[in-house]
Amino acid sequence: MPLLEDHIAVVTGAASGIGRAIAAGYAREGAQVALVDVNAKAAEEAAQEIREAGGRAASFALDVTKREDCIAIAKRVAAQLGPVSILVNNAGINRRNPFTAEPTSVFKDWDDIIAINLNGTFNVTHAFLDALRATKGRIVNIGSIQSFMHVRTPNSPAYTTSKHGVLGFTRALAAELGKYGVRVNAIGPGLIETPLNAQVRANDPDLIKIFMDHTPLGRAGKPEDIVGPAIFLASDLSSYVTGSIVMADGGYRTI
Ligand code: NAP
Repeated sequence: MPLLEDHIAVVTGAASGIGRAIAAGYAREGAQVALVDVNAKAAEEAAQEIREAGGRAASFALDVTKREDCIAIAKRVAAQLGPVSILVNNAGINRRNPFTAEPTSVFKDWDDIIAINLNGTFNVTHAFLDALRATKGRIVNIGSIQSFMHVRTPNSPAYTTSKHGVLGFTRALAAELGKYGVRVNAIGPGLIETPLNAQVRANDPDLIKIFMDHTPLGRAGKPEDIVGPAIFLASDLSSYVTGSIVMADGGYRTI
């Protein structure tokens, strides 16, 4: 029997990369999936791909930084699909820009990264809170190696801060929502080959080498590598797991 039958799942940032793979994986496990993304066209293409493969999926345009829009989307998803029982907060950006760089760019990157990666996670979770409480739902937040440490490749302090925040938020909500039967966990991907880092992979082999020298499995991850942990955390396989982070980083943090 599929692991997510009867579930309705919302995945943010589902038009691309990790979110797109998770949405497809959830649909294969029987869930009805709402693919939410700022890129409406790509989200619809991803939903169409799922439907063509026999799954159930609908797309919704949303900028997760817009709190009122998140509330409106929660109402639309409820009306169109039904009560949401799984939420994956995956939408995120990264910009590799040190704190000592030209100030205007540092200010902008801080504002944008915190707005999307951290405040966006808050906005969407709050919008779906009533539904998740009613369904005894599951929340899966996408953290990072940088939920624990700063990676000393040219990287933004805002990204590290945002992902530490995502882990803190995961723990705080797990503690508060456990009594409602809502489980809240995170996944910590290592370097996963997606459009998020396509440029750096193409232009900066030295940086990729630093990552790979630090990765016991000796390879970068693929979006599909995150799907198993995402299914585990959304399904009853993890019925006694909350407040945890599952690292899917090729062993990066062991060295
Ligand atoms: P990706 O391929 O760039 O996908 C992210 C998706 O989120 C894109 O479709 C993007 O749309 C969308 N998005 C951006 N801003 C948004 C907003 N304000 N509202 C709604 N959607 C928005 O990136 P990814 O690598 O799959 O990353 C997914 C998550 O994994 C992120 O949280 C990232 O931090 C995390 N992560 C990734 C890696 C990695 O190595 N790839 C490692 C650790 C953690 P646009 O393309 O139009 O901007």
